[in-house]
Amino acid sequence: MGNLKLHIPGPVEVSEKTYRAFCTPMIGHRSQDFKDLYGEIQPQLQKLFYTEQLVFLSSSSAWGVMEGSLRNLVSKKVLCCMCGAFSDKWLDVAKRCGKEADALRVDWGSPILPNQIDEKLATGEFDAITLVHNETSTGVMNPLEDIMALKKKYPDVMFIVDSVTSCSAVKIEFDRLGIDVLLTGSQKALALPPGFGVFAVSPAALEKAATLNDRGYYFDFLEFQKNAEKNMTPSTPSIGHIYALRSKLEDIFSEGLENRYQRHAQLSALTREWAAKNEFTLFPESGYESQTLTCINNGARSGGRVVDVAQLQKNVKEQGILIDGGYGKVKGTTFRLSNMGDETEETMQALYTALDKGLAQL
Ligand SMILES: *Cc1c(COP(=O)(O)O)cnc(C)c1O
Repeated sequence: MGNLKLHIPGPVEVSEKTYRAFCTPMIGHRSQDFKDLYGEIQPQLQKLFYTEQLVFLSSSSAWGVMEGSLRNLVSKKVLCCMCGAFSDKWLDVAKRCGKEADALRVDWGSPILPNQIDEKLATGEFDAITLVHNETSTGVMNPLEDIMALKKKYPDVMFIVDSVTSCSAVKIEFDRLGIDVLLTGSQKALALPPGFGVFAVSPAALEKAATLNDRGYYFDFLEFQKNAEKNMTPSTPSIGHIYALRSKLEDIFSEGLENRYQRHAQLSALTREWAAKNEFTLFPESGYESQTLTCINNGARSGGRVVDVAQLQKNVKEQGILIDGGYGKVKGTTFRLSNMGDETEETMQALYTALDKGLAQL
């Protein structure tokens, strides 16, 4: 089988240009060349995150930074907002880090709403919350702006936000919203090879981290800050990823951030139109649909025809395209189509054509 075009919600398709950048010959990580490289992309990363803070580079996948956030910032108890597989997992990770943790659970497909968080935080038990902005397993995009309005009411609570499938595809203004940690991974919205993380930390979060003495080393936020001030990382980073990131930032800023947001919004709308045209309903609650991936019911829920997702996936794969057959407990009853990264109207139309043919073959 040749290369499959990836329309799964991560890893997503990586461009030739990005791969070429990834393969740039190595340099020493304490060299001036490295400092110049990090120094060159730092202002662009700050623009991407809408922050004046230094943006950090982690040679780990997103989960490393997610675990690190808990270790750096939770001293009392963390509230884990759970609405799908990735957000659900965070509770488990918190407990494995030895943290006191409690769940705010909603049904898969539903968003996390501000009043639900407010009610929990009002108990005064919590000093941190974890939130996944775009829940990749359900295709739900949580109302981040409304949720972040709570920061004013609870200034001492650390708001930790995962934007792995939204950062750079949807506008997220770190400073203005008052986010304490905003993290993303490489292989989804950023369309880089997997295994790398990018994140920003608020001054308040750095202060809080300084009061915790079991932060560990690899994900110690203070180490990241100290090193980033010199355009370095605490340990030897994945330098190939940083070259790839530089190349991707070139792409992002030559397209323009607003155009990039608009493109993702438009392409996800096209996917929803395709679904409606084929009489499929969407898994997410109306009004909270993701702009980077679409989670579609196979019909079992809507009472109409029931599509064999595994067979559809196979039929589409035979045409050279990989789609996802549902994640966790909605595997087989939903399928997910990604429009993250470099997708265009043309590449999305090719996906819909393959899906139409795949459906006709069922
Ligand atoms: C994929 C994903 C992660 C985990 O990323 P890894 O690269 O596996 O660490 C975390 N959060 C969300 C929302 C994701 O989609």
